[in-house]
Amino acid sequence: MNSRALREARIDQNAISANVAALRTLLGTPHFMAVVKANGYGHGAVASARAAVEGGADWLGVIDSKEAAPLREAGITAPILTWLHGRSDTFLEAAALDLDVGVSTIDELDRAARARVRHIHIKVDTGLGRNGAEESHWSEVLDRAGTLERSGGPIVRGIFSHLANAGDEADAAQLAAFDRARQLAASAGLTPEIAHIAATQAALTRPESRLDLVRIGLGCYGLSPFPGIGPEVFGLRPAMELSAEVVSVKRVPAGSGVSYGHRYRTKRETTLALIPLGYSDGIPRHASNSGPVLINGERFTVAGAIAMDQFVVDVGDSPVAVGDRAILFGDPASGAPSATEWADAAGTINYEIIARLGSRVEYRSVGGGA
Ligand SMILES: *Cc1c(COP(=O)(O)O)cnc(C)c1O
Repeated sequence: MNSRALREARIDQNAISANVAALRTLLGTPHFMAVVKANGYGHGAVASARAAVEGGADWLGVIDSKEAAPLREAGITAPILTWLHGRSDTFLEAAALDLDVGVSTIDELDRAARARVRHIHIKVDTGLGRNGAEESHWSEVLDRAGTLERSGGPIVRGIFSHLANAGDEADAAQLAAFDRARQLAASAGLTPEIAHIAATQAALTRPESRLDLVRIGLGCYGLSPFPGIGPEVFGLRPAMELSAEVVSVKRVPAGSGVSYGHRYRTKRETTLALIPLGYSDGIPRHASNSGPVLINGERFTVAGAIAMDQFVVDVGDSPVAVGDRAILFGDPASGAPSATEWADAAGTINYEIIARLGSRVEYRSVGGGA
């Protein structure tokens, strides 16, 4: 058993592989993209990508070449799609790494052609309002892509869009718009092999959105995007456990003020335990006085303000000692609070809780070959 770090994000690679395998079976699409952007949603990009491929992902997704490079350097050969580019990106690195480039504009298309990118996916905005060609530009972009493809330029391997998850009606309108874009692509002489629009939420709830490929981020890491519906309902289990060692305990009298602003005051004589994790480590300050913590199998709550480096837990008369492990979130099946509970405590979503860990948190992998 490897030793535990003072601040530790323990990543269960087997959970990622098993989540991907479960989702592949459940969703049944010909292709499955594991989205490993943002350092694998805080789980480590390379290790997560390996575990996802092990579980059956045949595509990987990141935002750009910078995120893709470490995957290629690690010897990962699966196709990788990128979709968020600055105007100074020449796509030369994308071409060198043999990445599939998602293009939204004529300018991106031309840059990809100049860089001799092998495969592109045309991104169309069907109502999210982010990138992707807007409908008034679809013909122009698709025609140009067709011309380039026929003259030996990038092959249009895919056409894709992204949903706003703004309700049944809005999603249906986006899916209908996506159909129009696919028809226009055909009129432009294009035959993209892969059409894709669904991320975790739509893939799980709208079978008609699954198409040829689903782009799954959150689900791979074992979390549910639905309030009130846990991941276990879909056969998923959280891959990350965030914990730290208790670094100090002290007995204090009733009426003691705790942390900045004394936003917490002890009701009786009690023990305060100090946890060396704060908002610079990604622990949301908004969860002051409310974030859950498990120590020695017992659940407690953050006492007072979460500071930059540390927070306090009031453990009452429980025999908590320096060196005990405080688990902030993990797999609820093990008794740990969930990342979703922290999100609820902080008024945010579980995506943000896992993806925002700071650099002082050390990673430990368990399971898998990584
Ligand atoms: C982040 C992202 C995804 C994955 O979303 P999840 O909700 O985590 O599954 C899919 N597609 C695009 C374009 C994304 O930016």
